[in-house]
Amino acid sequence: MTGRKLHPATLAAQALGWTDAATGAVIMPIHTATTFIRDPDNQYRRGRSYARADNPTYDQPEQLLTALEGGAGSLLFPSGMAAATAIFGSLPPGSHIVAPRVMYWALRRWLGEASLTAEFVDATSLDAIAAATQKGRTKLVWIETPANPLWSVTDIAGAAEIAHRAGALLAVDSTVATPILTRPIELGADLVMHSATKYLNGHSDVMAGTVTAARDDEAWRRIVGARSSGGAILGGFEAYLLLRGMRTLPLRVERACRSAEKIAAALAANPRVAEVLYPGLPNHPNHAVAARQMQGGFGGMMSIRVKGGEKAAIATAAHVELWKRATSLGGVESLIEHRASVEGPGTPVPPDLLRMSVGCEDPGDLLADIEQALDQAA
Ligand code: PLP
Repeated sequence: MTGRKLHPATLAAQALGWTDAATGAVIMPIHTATTFIRDPDNQYRRGRSYARADNPTYDQPEQLLTALEGGAGSLLFPSGMAAATAIFGSLPPGSHIVAPRVMYWALRRWLGEASLTAEFVDATSLDAIAAATQKGRTKLVWIETPANPLWSVTDIAGAAEIAHRAGALLAVDSTVATPILTRPIELGADLVMHSATKYLNGHSDVMAGTVTAARDDEAWRRIVGARSSGGAILGGFEAYLLLRGMRTLPLRVERACRSAEKIAAALAANPRVAEVLYPGLPNHPNHAVAARQMQGGFGGMMSIRVKGGEKAAIATAAHVELWKRATSLGGVESLIEHRASVEGPGTPVPPDLLRMSVGCEDPGDLLADIEQALDQAA
């Protein structure tokens, strides 16, 4: 593309402006090869030998993500969990790590069973992160912001400073913020992870994950090596679909933010709703931090607590017609979910909570639908 610094919307819409030199095609081909020709002198000068390490179809989405995040390099994985576990897998066994008490539940459960010493803290408190992070012992501080499903927000710059003072890395699960709203590397993060299954792809039809590194250093090369030797490889077709989704990421995120703001404000005034959890609302406990580190909006994710408890919450979800009762988030279609039913015993999620992923439909239609469902459930 041009030598000028371009806006993320331009980088994404043109997918960095790549065209296929061999054919002039404005869309790059999908590569299906699992193996690559060795040069007659026994070298692999074109840089590729076998597709468990890499696939040319990854180049464009990885480089686009690197540009959007402002990092040094990115890797695609076959799921968000594969991306996250590649980061943890690159640490020495038994490493002490600090992680949030409120975070994506399946990863919290995985960390509890992994051969790591995980300490879970209230990640909305820098004091709590600092108290758990020990110089010379802690290898990694993991945060997720905004965090599932209370949408609590962690001060990324503050967490980075604490981690670095202790000689640890800071890794951020930025799935919900996306690089459109937050660029953790600019705030000091070392690694950024996404469940690309969500906003990056955006169409509920690809499982994928990503890791972006702030620097091409030894820690990053361990993760690159772990993907190649561990074999957590995305298919070429999925990489192509992911890139196609990423080209509209700014549009979709902007739409979801504007709609979520409207829906959150209206539901906060609804007498059948006990509480709306959305970092964009001025009364959200972490609103000030969110306003400082998120640009252009507060995301498309919110939760509501329904008056009448668990029964009323499940009944509300039963009466929606437009919102789809399904897990996941970040797709063009809006989803609603009784989260405690998914997470089971021991969850920090209140039983009256419905998690809502605002998609790209008309916000008035979405609001009318949830309002009629609340009325019917009452
Ligand atoms: N991180 C967050 C914030 C998520 O919401 C999810 C999935 O819901 C994951 C990680 C895991 O990603 P995946 O389902 O793509 O493995």
